[in-house]
Amino acid sequence: MSTHFTHEFDTPAYKGKVSFPTGLFIDGKFVDGSDKTTIDVINPTNGKVITKIAEATAKDVDIAVEAAQRAFDTTWGLNASGATRSRLMTKLWEFMERDQKILAALEALDNGKTFQWALDVDIAFSTDTIRYYSGWADKIHGQVMETDDKKLTYSRHEPIGVVGQIIPWNFPLLMWTWKIGPALATGNTVVLKPSEFTPLTAIYMCSLIQEAGFPPGVVNIVTGYGHTVGNAISSHMKIEKVAFTGSTLVGRKIMENAAKSNLKNVTLELGGKSPNIIFNDADLEQAVNWSLHGIFWNHGQACCAGSRIFVQSGIYDKFLAKFTEKTKGLKVGDPFATDSYQGPQVSQQQYDRIMSYIDSGKEEGATVHVGGERVGNEGYFIQPTIFTNTEPHMKIVQEEIFGPVGVVIKFEDEDDVVHQANDTMYGLASAVFSQDINKALTVAHRLRAGTAWVNCANTLNASVPFGGYKQSGIGRELGEYALHNYTSVKAVHVNLGIKM
Ligand code: NDP
Repeated sequence: MSTHFTHEFDTPAYKGKVSFPTGLFIDGKFVDGSDKTTIDVINPTNGKVITKIAEATAKDVDIAVEAAQRAFDTTWGLNASGATRSRLMTKLWEFMERDQKILAALEALDNGKTFQWALDVDIAFSTDTIRYYSGWADKIHGQVMETDDKKLTYSRHEPIGVVGQIIPWNFPLLMWTWKIGPALATGNTVVLKPSEFTPLTAIYMCSLIQEAGFPPGVVNIVTGYGHTVGNAISSHMKIEKVAFTGSTLVGRKIMENAAKSNLKNVTLELGGKSPNIIFNDADLEQAVNWSLHGIFWNHGQACCAGSRIFVQSGIYDKFLAKFTEKTKGLKVGDPFATDSYQGPQVSQQQYDRIMSYIDSGKEEGATVHVGGERVGNEGYFIQPTIFTNTEPHMKIVQEEIFGPVGVVIKFEDEDDVVHQANDTMYGLASAVFSQDINKALTVAHRLRAGTAWVNCANTLNASVPFGGYKQSGIGRELGEYALHNYTSVKAVHVNLGIKM
């Protein structure tokens, strides 16, 4: 089955032929899965099979871990200097930049996001993430501690070893780079499982890993299911760290597996139900535009989506009128059409899940103010949807929908909105809109969330930490903070003459 995927794109947004090897990527080679079984990759615009990819099993995870361990002990880890790691990572992001349109086209085909967004945001940010961490690779160092004149005491930031990484389907390449960037920069070797819904860019990247000249076994990609491959990674005795992005439900399983196996170090980036708070004194036009981006970016399939929009009573009616008008103007359609804003949701499963939340909102008595219906009769397209007249206990107010569905809620004063905003098990992100900077910052600081945007939403940068409070996760990705997830600190005490 280790074969080639070939696809001819002849679309308004992109024309070109793509052909690359597929298979599991283990020890620098494309190989079949041990059971020779395959997984269908589905096109979300029509539900048809794009291609079949190799299915990994727990046995393949073992083989990948062995390869990663060999590489760690010989060609990588403490055997590759920071400069060597940096040079290879630099080649990788340069190849990503060269192939940006291919990567964007694969992302649009596989995930359903529009080609232009994939190109301008996903691929640009992914390339930037590898570029950012290539710069760190030769700047990983500890500290010298003053303890005693007759002692030299210092710390080393050493790589952990073989790390396991499990990523979701909403930002397939971006999550690949958020995980792999800091892991490689600090000298770890990797066994990564992409989501089986969106494996194509992860597989394409393996060719670039080969072309850049990374030693075999440094990066291993095992495409397979969560209950088999994800489970094997999180409970593997030789994987000393696991990083996961996905649902809070599965995040719990990852932690449980880590605890029951070798107590591996765990970082989790989980769900969210982020508040987006608009005060009477906000710039209305800007608040509307950012709120649209906050909830509808990536079809609402973003852990940091601003899905609870709180608007102060003085501008509630004006905001809702403008927000409604602009929501109705968002074009849902083919990801490769140049005028589409929103493509399909990623899968039948997610489509069903989102529609069941819309049904629950109606059943619980909320008002569908805009949208709420399927678009077309094939694929997984859903209208951008706004609910009003909600109550705090409703499922659509409390739970992560992970689709183009937001609730707009009226509030009176600052204390009230801070209380409502924090009244959820999540704490990933938040946004505040006000032209009074004192008020905006006071509220930003009172919100229990790992990110607070002021007069903007969903803006991220490779150098800025991202992660959650409460049940939105453990640890931080991106920036210098992510490097700590991938290093073990060793203290070295050198006796320069203390006698016993
Ligand atoms: P999951 O959390 O189930 O999947 C995320 C990843 O974890 C996938 O690669 C999945 O593989 C894997 N996985 C599943 N079960 C296990 C397991 N037992 N051990 C290890 N890995 C496992 O998310 P879903 O795709 O099912 O989406 C459901 C909901 O999760 C969404 O509606 C959204 O609310 C949330 N979500 C949040 C994301 C975020 O960015 N924080 C991203 C994606 C989803 P497989 O696909 O084979 O099950």
